Amino acid sequence: MIDNYGRDINYIRISVTELCNLRCRYCMPEEGVPKRNHDEMMTAEETLKAAKAAVALGINKIRITGGEPLVKRGIVRLCREIAEIDGVEELCITTNGTLLKEFAVPLKEAGVDRLNISIDTLDPEKFSYITRLGQLQDVMDGIDAAFDAGFDKIKLNVVLMGGFNDDEIEAFVDLTRDRDLEVRFIELMPIGGGIDFDKAGFISCETVLERVPELRPLDMTDGVASMYSLPNAKGRVGLIRPISCEFCSGCNKIRLTADGMLKPCLHLDGEISIKGMDEEDMVETMREAILSKPEMRETMDADNPSKAGRDMSRIGG
Ligand code: SAM
Ligand code: SF4
Repeated sequence: MIDNYGRDINYIRISVTELCNLRCRYCMPEEGVPKRNHDEMMTAEETLKAAKAAVALGINKIRITGGEPLVKRGIVRLCREIAEIDGVEELCITTNGTLLKEFAVPLKEAGVDRLNISIDTLDPEKFSYITRLGQLQDVMDGIDAAFDAGFDKIKLNVVLMGGFNDDEIEAFVDLTRDRDLEVRFIELMPIGGGIDFDKAGFISCETVLERVPELRPLDMTDGVASMYSLPNAKGRVGLIRPISCEFCSGCNKIRLTADGMLKPCLHLDGEISIKGMDEEDMVETMREAILSKPEMRETMDADNPSKAGRDMSRIGG
């Protein structure tokens, strides 16, 4: 569906839970998010209805996110049902990867097309520090399990944090030499726990190009990522610049939170509830949400944080 500024909105990110088995310092408070009443959250049936409503409006790409989507009970079945909707061309999941050893094969069999796996460091101690609860090996095993299950075009999401992982940029880029994967460096956004991190160590994606001058631009983009590669590498490097480069004019998505709120813009607090609606009303409300997408957001930095109104873990990234 075309919005009021001529953008073709063909992508929805659906968060299926606010809960997570990790507590990344820039994303979630140490104590986790408060557990909500069951009846405040979307049921699997409602989420499926919302996916169908989105498809009825011309959306053909769906990403499942969270919290951590793989801790959601019934996630494989929900993915299978969404993948079966006529008109869904791409079903993707963003995951922290810790549970992929168990879930990679069932998700592949359920019809999930692609995986984005978040991993901010290759150092086991730093990994446990930044995630508070995680073990790096679980994610490494999860990445291998995803390849073994037959997923291709796997993307690794790396949030850039000066003083934390900028010394690992070369090591991350090196992963693309022999494996057909995309390492995506993402600028840290000043939202929730990210605000403090941002003050301490925001670095822009330009740092990646300064540290690895061999990277060459590719004549392609991948969604919001500018694409690069090392000479003769099997994989690619994507740079996502939500801060240093404005990409609202190319924004093609809306978001649905786990408590049933449509968010026309990630960084504004405008939300429209679809919880409890039948599919027909969901279609109309989603149409309104798309038509209420702003042309662009305001400038954002550590002193002017996101006006999202929720932490990233309660939106889904
Ligand atoms: N739990 C899953 C995961 O970690 O991939 C999915 C949800 S998580 C909120 C989605 C993505 O948002 C992750 O790649 C995470 O690193 C990113 N993220 C969270 N907070 C962020 C922030 N303040 N700035 C930039 N990216 C952020
Ligand atoms: Fe959980 Fe993902 Fe947030 Fe980390 S980034 S706390 S894994 S939701």
